[in-house]
Amino acid sequence: MKKIITLALAMILALSVFAGCGKKGEMTVEEGKLIMATNAYFPPYEYYEGSEIVGVDAEIAAAVAEKLGLELEIADMEFDSIITAVSSGKADMGLAGMTVTEERLKNINFSDTYAQGVQVVIVKQGSEIQSIDDITGHSIGVQLATTGDIYATDDFGSENVVEFNKGNDAIMALLSDKVDCVIIDNEPAKSFVAANEGLVILDTEYVTEDYAACISKDNEALLAAVNKALADLTADGTIQKILDKYISAE
Ligand code: GLN
Repeated sequence: MKKIITLALAMILALSVFAGCGKKGEMTVEEGKLIMATNAYFPPYEYYEGSEIVGVDAEIAAAVAEKLGLELEIADMEFDSIITAVSSGKADMGLAGMTVTEERLKNINFSDTYAQGVQVVIVKQGSEIQSIDDITGHSIGVQLATTGDIYATDDFGSENVVEFNKGNDAIMALLSDKVDCVIIDNEPAKSFVAANEGLVILDTEYVTEDYAACISKDNEALLAAVNKALADLTADGTIQKILDKYISAE
């Protein structure tokens, strides 16, 4: 009997915590909604199909929203605005193939990891750049404020790095010889190379990293709820199914 009462009490407590979040709108910026900040030019994680934003992150966010009983809304913005949008309460979470880094952790929390990324180097076919070492002294196109930007600047000097707002703009610069290579995440790299003739990805992994959702440091409740949802979606195979749908095995 005592056990049942304790259990009932625990359940009431759990329910009231969730109800409290929803009612006061504490857990998300707008009641009933889960607003995801992203930069929708990063296939296959987020990209436009007509006027709709689709991709790995969009589907994972939709599955998380469903678990939390919230309606997903996606806000498209520049990559370097995402963390500020989330920390200042304009969006609930950022999903953007975003890498967990020590530097970012100073300003924002990250959920548990849901995917891995690798920074790779794209060159024109026949380029004299054939390895990471060959990059020295050449110009590198990157997407502004990404880890590719940060590593390239650290390793090869800011004078050799040209920053673009979108990954695709860096690719266009490579095609027109304005930069000698592009450093970017492997899956978008594959999409860009497939969409443009004359480009190749070097057979070398520059840096491997973990992707996660960023959530405000002021919103521990949402962080816990998203991690719980991600754990459930991992356990029931949903996350793997979404990854398999967009990312073909080598
Ligand atoms: N993974 C990289 C980063 O977090 C790039 C992400 C992106 O361009 N959307 O910086």
